Amino acid sequence: MNDSPLALLGGEPTITAPGPHFTWPVIAEPDREAVAAQLESGVSIPDRSGVVADFEDALASYLGVRHVVTTCTGTAALHSMYAAAGIGPGDEVIVPALTFHATATPLFHLGAHPVLADVDDRGQLDLDDAARRLTARTKAVVAVHLWGLPEDMDALVSFAEEHAVMLLEDGSHAHGATWNGRRTGTFGAAAAFSLNGPKPLSAGEGGFVATDDSELYYRVLLHGQYNKRCRREIPATHPLARFAVTGMGLKLRIHPLAAALALAQLPRLDGYLDGRQSTAARMCAALDGVPGIRVPHVPVLARPSWYALPLRYEPAGLGGLPLERFLEAVHAEGADAVDQPGSTCPLGTHPLFQAPGALLPGYADHQGPAVGDFPAAEHVHATTLKLPVWHGQEDVRLADAYTAAIAKVASHAKDLL
Ligand SMILES: *Cc1c(COP(=O)(O)O)cnc(C)c1O
Repeated sequence: MNDSPLALLGGEPTITAPGPHFTWPVIAEPDREAVAAQLESGVSIPDRSGVVADFEDALASYLGVRHVVTTCTGTAALHSMYAAAGIGPGDEVIVPALTFHATATPLFHLGAHPVLADVDDRGQLDLDDAARRLTARTKAVVAVHLWGLPEDMDALVSFAEEHAVMLLEDGSHAHGATWNGRRTGTFGAAAAFSLNGPKPLSAGEGGFVATDDSELYYRVLLHGQYNKRCRREIPATHPLARFAVTGMGLKLRIHPLAAALALAQLPRLDGYLDGRQSTAARMCAALDGVPGIRVPHVPVLARPSWYALPLRYEPAGLGGLPLERFLEAVHAEGADAVDQPGSTCPLGTHPLFQAPGALLPGYADHQGPAVGDFPAAEHVHATTLKLPVWHGQEDVRLADAYTAAIAKVASHAKDLL
């Protein structure tokens, strides 16, 4: 219990260090050297050579998969993955109702329908709700490891087997996370990852698809890597080889400077994740039992990447204090990096999902979700506060200050009512 008055009410703030308190990715000397060297050796790579080949090989060996194809963004990786999986007009794909929109939006560009399924109280796909939404047109179900907390992959693998639908993964929050010792992104027929700015592995902008399946691999190449790569990598005897020059007509290659940056970062990823794991455990221990705050439940089989620490706010424990007021007081304590998830929100709230036909003529008859259709997704989103998870020993004091700021506001909640 901190006895000083809340900063919002004129007391001393808990944190006075100037922000930003969390920046990602870490740019270190090897990154600068790798990017500078790449500037000299080539800034356009039309085939699988140089830094693109090196990075794809490194990712394939890190994940333990046969094939990796890099892309310009995670959105492009998802688009290529769905196209390669043969998802087309009228097909339905089950996507959690709570995720970043790009998990689902590429499906609109294939004529397919994202079918949203609600999440459970942990924000993970509710398989009972997903089962109710299966139809004869359902082709696949997508696992999203929200905030880097792995989904229950045993349950998802059996769900996909039982219902004979393809399992695909969006690993964009979860590079290096594991479920039962196995890396997320290796359970489905294929996985797509973002390498965007704040993601656990970052190229600034970029993405990739990982798969063990050579047919999927060829089709990923044909979707967004036309000409040289397709000509060299798809066997001449393969029935699709004749399409190599144009592929499917899209060009979604990664920039070699982005590949160089992420390749330089990859050897440090596991060290960062170890650091995050111990910071997250420390922050959860500090916040466990604070009234109004629920720390995430992490199953014993899950090892998260801690893209963020998602806390659940329970106003009933604080006399009904609204989350916005609580957050205002936390910010006044100097804990600026605590926030509510913005763009990672219930997909049914986006106009694109409610009325895709206004932008995409093929969807004039698409029956979009209404607000209220996904009560758990909406509730989880409305009651989530997220914190950065620092990896460094030198950041332990900052992490402690953040949890102290939250505990201080909780202990003074009555002053805010
Ligand atoms: C970031 C993200 C994407 C999109 O990746 P970009 O690289 O930004 O295109 C897709 N899905 C999830 C879950 C993400 O977090």
